[in-house]
Amino acid sequence: MQEGMNRRSFLQLGVVAGATAMAPRWIRAQAAPAAQPHPSTGDAPIKATKLYDNLYLLQGTGGNMALQTGPEGNILIDSSYAPAVPRIREAIAAVSKDAPFVLINTHWHGDHTGGNEGMHAAGFTICAHQKTRERLSTTQTLKVFQRTFPPSPAGALPTVTFERELRMWHNGDSLDLVHIDPSHTDTDIYINFHKADVLHLGDTFFNGMYPVIDESTGGSIGGMIRASEMSLAMVSDSTKIIPGHGPLGSKSDLQKFHDMLSAIRDKMAALKAAGASEQEALAKNPTAEFDAAWGKGVLSKDVFAGTVYRTL
Ligand SMILES: [Zn+2]
Ligand SMILES: [Zn+2]
Repeated sequence: MQEGMNRRSFLQLGVVAGATAMAPRWIRAQAAPAAQPHPSTGDAPIKATKLYDNLYLLQGTGGNMALQTGPEGNILIDSSYAPAVPRIREAIAAVSKDAPFVLINTHWHGDHTGGNEGMHAAGFTICAHQKTRERLSTTQTLKVFQRTFPPSPAGALPTVTFERELRMWHNGDSLDLVHIDPSHTDTDIYINFHKADVLHLGDTFFNGMYPVIDESTGGSIGGMIRASEMSLAMVSDSTKIIPGHGPLGSKSDLQKFHDMLSAIRDKMAALKAAGASEQEALAKNPTAEFDAAWGKGVLSKDVFAGTVYRTL
């Protein structure tokens, strides 16, 4: 990747430009000894965008976060990674004097859970799908980046978990937290704010870039396509859709994402059915028509296409 080719995406995803830095910064940060923090990962400012009276999109490095404020206590969705905790706390304090309440994790990945321990220490109770707790409790590998992650400390683990869905009535709105069948991982949930008409899809939606599909914890291209179809059926043209990465999206953005995934899945499936090996299939460049628009994010086209091939 070239420095400056898509600076905004790099910053939002926490990706460092350069040949040896294809992995998101949270992976590098977690892999590094605790005594050698990466100051740059925590220094990125967090931008707050108001989506509704008491609901904000928070964007820094790591995955996109959301904050619901109110007298019943603040709900935070996702926690970026550990060095970002002071910045997250500043961003919350800038818009709210309300007490901490619940931190919801969209899935287990460290760019969404790395700040769990710090935000828990700041007063948030952590809520997630049961499998997010299970995966954070044990050693995990992330094949696409060839990394292994040790179990998280106790203070980082969700202590309120569910299997299928959970509804919360809070600060004048009702929120559905619903498990998504395996797609990006097997731990993904969406959070739907009914009154605000805001849907957080976690990493089942990358807006404007090829998505990470974590084949080592249940992700697949078919699951990603089914998740986007399920989401499209839920939303209207006025729904604000928060992707795990990339700018705030709309139904038409999600439709484009779905159509891109489907087209590449179909091309790759035809190559695989004709007997092409993964390398032979990649050599046919099945993502070619999409690379200009979608190929400037966290993954190179070939890393993405490889996960498509392997998870068909
Ligand atoms: Zn992510
Ligand atoms: Zn993820």
